[in-house]
Amino acid sequence: MLFHDVVIVGGGLTGLMAACEAPPGLDVALFSKIYPTRSHSGAAQGGFNAALGEDDSVEAHIFDTVKGGDYLGDQDAVEVLCSEGPEVIRSLDRMGVPWSRRPDGRPAQRSLGGAGFPRACYAADISGHVVLHTLYERALAAGVRLYPEWHLVEILIEEGALAGLLLYHLATGRLEVVRCRVALLAAGGYGRIFQKTTNGHSNTGDGTAVAYRAGAVLADMEFVQFHPTTLTGSNILISEAARGEGGYLRNAAGERFMDRYAPQKMELAPRDVVSRSIFQEIKEGRGLDGGSVNLDLTHLGREKILRQLPQITELAHRYAAVDPVREPIPIEPAQHYSMGGIRVNLDCETTIPGLLAAGETANVSVHGANRLGGNSLLETVVFGRRAGRHLGKAAAGRPLPPPPRASLADALGRWQANFSAGPRHPDDSAAAIRDALNRTMTDKVGVFRTGEELGEAMAELAALRTRYDALRLSPGERPFNTELIEHLELGCLLELGEITAGAAFRRTESRGAHYRLDHPHRDDARWLHHTLARRGADGRAVYEAGPVSITRFPPQERGY
Ligand SMILES: Cc1cc2nc3c(=O)[nH]c(=O)nc-3n(C[C@H](O)[C@H](O)[C@H](O)COP(=O)(O)OP(=O)(O)OC[C@H]3O[C@@H](n4cnc5c(N)ncnc54)[C@H](O)[C@@H]3O)c2cc1C
Repeated sequence: MLFHDVVIVGGGLTGLMAACEAPPGLDVALFSKIYPTRSHSGAAQGGFNAALGEDDSVEAHIFDTVKGGDYLGDQDAVEVLCSEGPEVIRSLDRMGVPWSRRPDGRPAQRSLGGAGFPRACYAADISGHVVLHTLYERALAAGVRLYPEWHLVEILIEEGALAGLLLYHLATGRLEVVRCRVALLAAGGYGRIFQKTTNGHSNTGDGTAVAYRAGAVLADMEFVQFHPTTLTGSNILISEAARGEGGYLRNAAGERFMDRYAPQKMELAPRDVVSRSIFQEIKEGRGLDGGSVNLDLTHLGREKILRQLPQITELAHRYAAVDPVREPIPIEPAQHYSMGGIRVNLDCETTIPGLLAAGETANVSVHGANRLGGNSLLETVVFGRRAGRHLGKAAAGRPLPPPPRASLADALGRWQANFSAGPRHPDDSAAAIRDALNRTMTDKVGVFRTGEELGEAMAELAALRTRYDALRLSPGERPFNTELIEHLELGCLLELGEITAGAAFRRTESRGAHYRLDHPHRDDARWLHHTLARRGADGRAVYEAGPVSITRFPPQERGY
């Protein structure tokens, strides 16, 4: 058994920022299933939004975010995000982040989709990487105790409150109970429920699923972002920065087709709008062979492409055999970001006493029905900082709970069941089930949805769960048991896939990234509310409506 005052699960930008900002003297431990600097945050290319420009304002950033999210974002949370943004970016600057800079030394800013001003601070197209490494160094300097390659398995609850965590240590194959006063989940998103995704292999939503099983409420799981520009086939991201720097989208005939769909913002309309436009072009026969369109950077010139977009140039070379300086890049939309997550308040508290959550794993509802480029990285550092600061107060107000007993016995029973479920389907495998899940999600819970296909998806996912429950693992407590890890991750993916499909089936309107062909309009009278999901006694999700905070911008029609 291990003891710490505060336990953070997740070593991406959110977890590291919280660790750096926790009050000095607090005993903070950070657990991460992969090495912190390999977290998906490190793959982020485009940048961090903050209203720093002379003509820009916090008010404009709030408005763009609320409108971009199709009025489902909680405006009190959006206000926090946008108003704390400039100060957090300055504090990252002081920590030593090597931003790309203007001639006068201030951080440079570029345009991303749905923004009225160039608002994203960046470091070429490796923005996430440089901030992740800066925060990692800071966390080490602050004396944070790191536990890399420890995998969260369960959250132990006694009398409705956090009693401890159960983690699996990959290197030793040991299961360990970790006791703490308070815990913060910063375990990232669950893009890997989809076949076509820009997300890293580790983005399996463990934090979200484990918290849900422990009784936490999830929100807005039907809202999944599909990024318009990923390399066709591999779905490696080609950042919105490519369009921010002036790139064009062209159909097979070479036309800049966005003037048909978003005549003002063109390529820099929000992602939901651009992704649907691309599919519309393809559907109407104006796509390239194999269902793509082109992202054309050639007119930007070699010097600008190599200076501002070096990583994209290399990715296009290496994974699509294309030289963006000379030829257009074939692209297709793919899953990119999970707007849904664990419902939290402005202090990052979940509905379970002692348990906090922040970053992509959480839903404080700053993105509403569609996230704007650059706002997620901002969320990781703004709400990571808030969570870190609140951890001190939360830990002071909560004595170490007594050792978990009943919850631990139950959890150990479930753990053992993984290894002894019986050889009912000896030929089945986690890989086969995951593949089927991924296909169902991409084919039937994708950019365009219908009630009929969502119903089919729900039935298919239920059948996959039955197959999953019958899987048997070879005896387990051994070092680097990747079979076991994949099994645990698949359980989380299935759980979150079912809730995503269930919530999408239920919402009979189109809003932001959730587009129902059979209900193509936004319906504020019936649906201007959050979808809350909690686990019912029979293990199935129970859905209800939650209010949306509207403080200054009443819903309007959303044109670009
Ligand atoms: C390719 C790509 C590019 C992007 N570009 C941008 C951009 O330019 N601008 C922008 O605003 N957003 C961007 N995003 C989104 C943004 O990067 C993410 O939303 C954000 O970085 C998530 O940070 P996080 O700290 O919440 O989680 P992550 O960085 O995903 O970290 C999750 C952490 O949780 C740990 N973890 C997970 N499960 C467990 C478990 N079971 N046990 C222990 N530890 C666990 C992992 O080890 C990891 O350390 C991009 C996303 C992708 C995929």
